[in-house]
Amino acid sequence: MSDMVDERTDGAASDETTRVKPVVAVVGRPNVGKSSLVNRIIGRREAVVEDVPGVTRDRVAYDATWQGREFTLVDTGGWETSASGLAAMVARQAEYAAETADVILFVVDATVGITDADEAVTRVLRATKRPVVLAANKVDGPMNDADALELWNLGVGEPHPVSALHGRGTGDLLDAVLEAMPEEAPRESEPVLGGPRRVALVGRPNVGKSSLLNRLAGEERVVVDSVAGTTRDAVDELVELGGKTWKFIDTAGIRRRFRALQGADYYATMRTAAALERAEVAVVLLDVSEPLADQDIRIVEQVVDAGRALVLAFNKWDLLDEERRYYLEKEIDRQLSRVGWAPRVNISAKTGRHVERLVPAIEQGLASWDTRIPTGRLNTWFKELVAATPPPARGGRQPKILFATQADVRPPHFVLFTTGFLEEGYRRFIERRLREDFGFQGSPIKLTMRIRE
Ligand code: GDP
Repeated sequence: MSDMVDERTDGAASDETTRVKPVVAVVGRPNVGKSSLVNRIIGRREAVVEDVPGVTRDRVAYDATWQGREFTLVDTGGWETSASGLAAMVARQAEYAAETADVILFVVDATVGITDADEAVTRVLRATKRPVVLAANKVDGPMNDADALELWNLGVGEPHPVSALHGRGTGDLLDAVLEAMPEEAPRESEPVLGGPRRVALVGRPNVGKSSLLNRLAGEERVVVDSVAGTTRDAVDELVELGGKTWKFIDTAGIRRRFRALQGADYYATMRTAAALERAEVAVVLLDVSEPLADQDIRIVEQVVDAGRALVLAFNKWDLLDEERRYYLEKEIDRQLSRVGWAPRVNISAKTGRHVERLVPAIEQGLASWDTRIPTGRLNTWFKELVAATPPPARGGRQPKILFATQADVRPPHFVLFTTGFLEEGYRRFIERRLREDFGFQGSPIKLTMRIRE
């Protein structure tokens, strides 16, 4: 089992289908004002980082918005530090940019004019099919506009005069960037927001689902909510817990006894899948009085594959003796180690023991499931991680992680833009460190790569 997508398909966790925000890469030789322009675009008033060759910047990618359009802005300045000549270095950065970005924002210092390094970048950009928007920077006032005109000679289109320092012209420049962006496909249906959060109580037969539901909801079903068009006869119940209302999904499937003679397993799996489809978080109930069964593990896998938050509830704790407890811990270590991030609650539906701990665990899982890490922070973090522990080389080449974004929440989904394949061990390492530093307790994490060899 794994919470990293695509590992099941032979470790090819390369991903071209995930919807990520458009990437705009800022390229140009040192000192043209790339960082100032980035800061200007993201609306930051922080001190501008000196644009010195060979000096690694601490951040590379940021969240940006213009005219309501969101995109990831990438400063390529820190990508290549082992410079063998300025022109070669910036050409290499431009190559990376061309490989990863949807739009390239090429910054030239209009007061200096065209240099060898600018021409090296131009050669790379001409060879790509990516749209290029040319920024003629340091055009601080109208009397400098003539400087910008000279940059037509680069042959990459219209120079847009800007002053990153004063903000002059940046609006028009961003309009041009938006124009060059790929069409925005309509978002898929977003998860329903508002209303009670949706919990699926799942587990194999006889683990105590209906006992727990009865304890939580009381024998009286106060409010029921029939769901049309999903599993036949699905009934959701609104349950008041810890001062909040929760929607328990498909309680009909729990309260009623379904005893199909043939294909009972298949039917149960379908019913669980349907409940998970509509739920945000799953409480998987396990019976501690018996050894963990394959079916238990399969249900946990189903939750992870469905990308739902997960809480493990070990039921019938009242039946546990010392010996069984010893073996249980061993079974958990062996069979559930891959979901070590899931909160565990040890309960008894019968006696009510620790049942009140379910809600905090569910809330924890949902909070993790909803978490979004800002791109700037994420990239600062990645930069440190990769500097301390670089990805292992493959076939003599060391893959670079150029930058990362969080493409989605529910569950958190990270996309790494790389120059080569990251091995499974390294991806696991990344996930482990993400969890150590950002939590994500109770939520699966998806990690995919966009590889540009
Ligand atoms: P379901 O099939 O998952 O809905 O399981 P049930 O709720 O019908 O429970 C199956 C059996 O386990 C019943 O006989 C329950 O009384 C019993 N049971 C459920 N929870 C507990 C518990 O915490 N402790 C003990 N000792 N028995 C339990």
